[in-house]
Amino acid sequence: MLNKEDKIFTNLHGFEDPFLQGALKRGIWSNTKEILKKEPNEIIDLVKASQLRGRGGAGFSTGLKWSFMPKDTGKQHYLVVNADESEPGTCKDREMIRNDPHMLIEGCLIASYAIQATKCYIYIRGEYFFEYEQLEKAIKEAYDKNFVGKNACGSDFDFDIYVHRGAGAYICGEETALLESLEGKKGQPRLKPPFPAGAGLYGMPTTINNVESIAVVPTILRRGSEWFKNFGSENNTGTKVYCISGNVNNPCTVEEEMGIPLKELIEKYAGGVQGGWDNLLAIVPGGSSTPLLPKHICETVKMNFDDLKANGSGLGTAGVIVVNKDFDIAEVIERFSHFYKHESCGQCTPCREGTGWMHRMMQKLIRGDISPEQLELLENVTKQIEGHTICALGDAAAWPIQGLIKNFKNELLSRYEENRKIS
Ligand code: SF4
Repeated sequence: MLNKEDKIFTNLHGFEDPFLQGALKRGIWSNTKEILKKEPNEIIDLVKASQLRGRGGAGFSTGLKWSFMPKDTGKQHYLVVNADESEPGTCKDREMIRNDPHMLIEGCLIASYAIQATKCYIYIRGEYFFEYEQLEKAIKEAYDKNFVGKNACGSDFDFDIYVHRGAGAYICGEETALLESLEGKKGQPRLKPPFPAGAGLYGMPTTINNVESIAVVPTILRRGSEWFKNFGSENNTGTKVYCISGNVNNPCTVEEEMGIPLKELIEKYAGGVQGGWDNLLAIVPGGSSTPLLPKHICETVKMNFDDLKANGSGLGTAGVIVVNKDFDIAEVIERFSHFYKHESCGQCTPCREGTGWMHRMMQKLIRGDISPEQLELLENVTKQIEGHTICALGDAAAWPIQGLIKNFKNELLSRYEENRKIS
């Protein structure tokens, strides 16, 4: 269990003042000027050495991503922070922003300095209106204290930070759709390459990071890469904020060590599964797009990138959704399927047509109207959508269905048999 003194997000639950006075007490902005005396490359190397992997879902090395930014181009560089947080089951960035906004702002300054971006945009989902207001208030405080702005923290680095509200589309959490939206266009993903580091916002070099990835950077630099690496295991280091929802007694958002066993996480923090552990049916471990895990895997799996992948799922956003035996798992996945159909931006055929087709098949499936051959066809189609679309929404729509068929095939087939007996 993570000790209190090793927590990075010390006001995650908002028991203390979220604004400047509280932030200063928590050590935020304490030696930022000293950190900014380091060379940008030195900061990138320290973040690389910490083995911090992006907390938005993909799990790519944050320091490595920063190192892709071109040097001495004479162009405007941008840092864009993805606070769209639209993945069902995920509510971690919201807690960070509303309860400790200065952590994020300080992280934005340091990360921007490392990639030599003098401008930073935080793209926040429109529904997070309270969080937007908290952030704006904290940014004003930071400007008033000259922590940001011209000669930020007395470092000779000029830095401006803006908050931009999205309009509620899930796809704007995809980094290139987010850039399109930020530029005032329809939020549709771009084809890659070019990657944002080469041509991002307004065609300029841009790095896009998740809120949590940026918010932990100041603590890593204060306490050291080795300190951060003490938690978790090789390539799965640090602490992590998990969100636990669904059929648990106490849904919550909590910071723990990367790699904590899933069962421990649920029993210790979420008050256990409703009806007891033996009433558990399955868990979606990383937000709605990650394949579900059946109970026997949930007994031992660890909540990190590699162990979840090895067990057929993924850490994603660490939005843990628990489903117990009181619910129909096929109906749960049908709901996910409806969501992805609704959120497809419609640009590419496998996603536009495929998400609708898969959803119609899922509706038939929950009624017991899918024969073994049709089930095979459904599985086959999910595999043809996966990896054949412009962005990962196609994958996100396919994976939950694949997880369902892989782990509950017999139940799905017997549903068809039962239905035939009745009719
Ligand atoms: Fe749009 Fe779906 Fe294609 Fe992504 S995969 S670009 S959401 S149609």
